[in-house]
Amino acid sequence: MNYWTLIIIFAISLSIINYLKLRKSKEQYKKLIKHLPLGIAVHEGDKITYANDALLKILEANSISDVIGQSIWSFIPKPIIDEVQSRLNSAFRGVEKGEFIEQRIYKVDKTPIDLEIGGLLLSLKKAPEILVVVRDITERKKAEKLKKNIEYEKMKTEFFSNLSHELKTPLNLIFSTAQLMDLADRDGEYISNKDKRSRHNRILKQNCYRLLRLVNNLIDITKADSGYLHLNLEEYDISQLVSNIVFSIEDYTKNKDIELFFENSVNNKIIACDADKIERILLNLLSNAIKFTNKGGKISVNITEMNDNIQISVKDTGIGIPKEKQIDIFNRFIQVDKSFKRNHEGSGIGLSIVKSMVAMHNGKILLNSEVGVGSEFIVILPTNLEAEKAVTMEQKLEKDLVEKINIEFSDIYS
Ligand code: ADP
Repeated sequence: MNYWTLIIIFAISLSIINYLKLRKSKEQYKKLIKHLPLGIAVHEGDKITYANDALLKILEANSISDVIGQSIWSFIPKPIIDEVQSRLNSAFRGVEKGEFIEQRIYKVDKTPIDLEIGGLLLSLKKAPEILVVVRDITERKKAEKLKKNIEYEKMKTEFFSNLSHELKTPLNLIFSTAQLMDLADRDGEYISNKDKRSRHNRILKQNCYRLLRLVNNLIDITKADSGYLHLNLEEYDISQLVSNIVFSIEDYTKNKDIELFFENSVNNKIIACDADKIERILLNLLSNAIKFTNKGGKISVNITEMNDNIQISVKDTGIGIPKEKQIDIFNRFIQVDKSFKRNHEGSGIGLSIVKSMVAMHNGKILLNSEVGVGSEFIVILPTNLEAEKAVTMEQKLEKDLVEKINIEFSDIYS
């Protein structure tokens, strides 16, 4: 054997060894993929050419032919067809990153299943070949739903215990004041002390207003939920409407030693809005501002026009709201301080009503707040709503704003 024959034999033996090794590792890879707990499929164009055991199990296939040879579209619900197609296009162009996304697809029997799906371009044959990896997240979804239900139930329980506290406090005060009044009457105290009678009367009224406010709020959230909260759009001079509300609560701010400012850069701007709802929105924001601002603090209301919007800002130098609570406080039943020992009365439904009343106007409400510095609520109202009729301010003033303030501010003791 010459030197070259030896070299050729050596090269051929090496190739055979490599081929056998490759075949063995290919077999091993095949086995690995077949038994992997993740679902794996390959489709050429839209035709499924490979599915591992885990995928057949996830899709609850009775036989391989339920999946292999089928079109991928028989597993994709209509509403997500466009989304899947655009992901496929990215995969065909090789720009799909193969990230997992949550998708609800159909099993073989057409019942839905939640999966995490990722896909990558495998090869460019006649039709592009895509490798799809899926993870069953049904259990995770169930756990998430359960957690949400538990949280909601907890919130509801808190709300009802809070609600009973909110109902009981004014009722107890009314009851004990009525007893005091009986005693004072029996002992003839009211004859010599007229102030005492009016003080007792004031306590009775204030607590009736608190009960009325609570009931009004409960009726409104129920109405908002069932779509019965009606928007009565009429034309108003918005800055006049706002200033009217702001100046009518001056007594409350004075009483608490809080400075009240009103800045208006909008003149004679007539917009269509529901004045009763605007009043509820502002009275709610202002009563919160007073509740959560200490003596010597400042509350400023500012009204400006920006593009096609009117912006009304209610800003205070109060206790502020922690960042992590800022989204939540617009949700029903949420209070930053839920303890019964808290310094402020309230049921945690005011801001959720404010939010739905602003949304009914196609508006938005924003919040900037910092603990220890203060809070600013900005109500943005569009100016392009169509009114059903125009109302003059004189007509509006006939309605009883004072009564509404008494109700809305009944949580604040004057
Ligand atoms: P409540 O009837 O309890 O005042 P709201 O829905 O009006 O209910 O407010 C929810 C919570 O948001 C309040 O309990 C309070 O913790 C917080 N909050 C609202 N406005 C302010 C404010 N101006 N400053 C500080 N905290 C506020």
